[in-house]
Amino acid sequence: MAYGVEYLVAAGKKAVHAMRRRCISLHLSGPATMCKLFDILVLPILSYSCEVWAVNPKVGAKAELVQRQFLKQLLGVRKSTTNQIVLAEFGRFPLQIPFWKQILRYHNRVCALPNSRLDKLALLDGFWNSNPPHRVEALSGNWRSDVRRFTDTHGQQILYDGISIIVERKKARWVGDFLLDTDHSSLQLYRTVYKAKYSVYQYSDYLSTVRCYPHRRLISRFRCGCHGLHVDTGRLGKDSEHRSREERVCLVCMSSSVEDEHHFLFDCPAYSHIRQQFSIWPHLQ
Ligand SMILES: [Zn+2]
Repeated sequence: MAYGVEYLVAAGKKAVHAMRRRCISLHLSGPATMCKLFDILVLPILSYSCEVWAVNPKVGAKAELVQRQFLKQLLGVRKSTTNQIVLAEFGRFPLQIPFWKQILRYHNRVCALPNSRLDKLALLDGFWNSNPPHRVEALSGNWRSDVRRFTDTHGQQILYDGISIIVERKKARWVGDFLLDTDHSSLQLYRTVYKAKYSVYQYSDYLSTVRCYPHRRLISRFRCGCHGLHVDTGRLGKDSEHRSREERVCLVCMSSSVEDEHHFLFDCPAYSHIRQQFSIWPHLQ
C-alpha cells in the first residue's frame, strides 16, 4: 500500500513539474490560476484510489507533502516555513479533507448495494454495531476499523445526513485549530497581524493584486516569517542550542530589542533615514 502511494506521490511531483513548465511557456504566473490547475491536473493523480489508502493518516500524509511543496514554491518561501501559515495564505485545506469526501462517498455507494453483493457483505462483516466489540478490536488497523473510528467521532447518522456537512465541519475544525494553536510563536504572530482582523480564512488579496513575482515573493516571505531577521535566523546559537525569542536581539542597532517585524519596520534607528522617505505615513514617523 505504502509503495503504491509513493508511486502516486512521484507521479504527482512529475505532474506539478510539467504544469509549471507549461505555465512558464504560456506566461501564466497568477497563484490563483496555478492553484486551479493544481486541483484539475495534479489532485486527481494524488487522490487516485484514495478511498482505499487515505483512511490511514500516515499514508495520506505522503500525498499531503506534494501540495505543501507546490504552495511553498509558489510563494517562494523556505521548505521549513510553517505549514499552517502556507495553507492559510491561500485559504486552502489539507488534502485529507477531499480524501475523506471520496472515502465517505465510496462507503455510501457500497452501503446502497444489494445485500447479496460481495463488497457489501465484506463491508457488513465486522463493521456494524451488532458485531461483538472483540470483533472490531481484531480488525484494528484495516479499512473498516479506520472508517469505523471516523464515524464514531462524527456520528454514524451523519453519513446519511450529507457528506457536505461532514466536509464543512472538518474545515471549520481545521480553521478553529488554526486560530487557537498556541504552540508556534510564528503562527501566533501571523494570525494576530494578518488574519485576526478579518477572522476569515481565505485567499490573501495581495496574491492577486501584486503581479510582479519578486515583489510578491518579498511580501510572502515577510508575512510567512522567513525574512532573514534575527528572530527568524537566530533560533540556534553557535553551540546549536535553541535560543528563546527574547535572546534574538537586533545586531544592527545593537539594542536589546528583539529584531522582529515590528522592530525592523517601526523602531530600529538604523533604518530611520529610509523611514523618513515614507513620512506620508504618520505611523512610521
Ligand atoms: Zn535594530
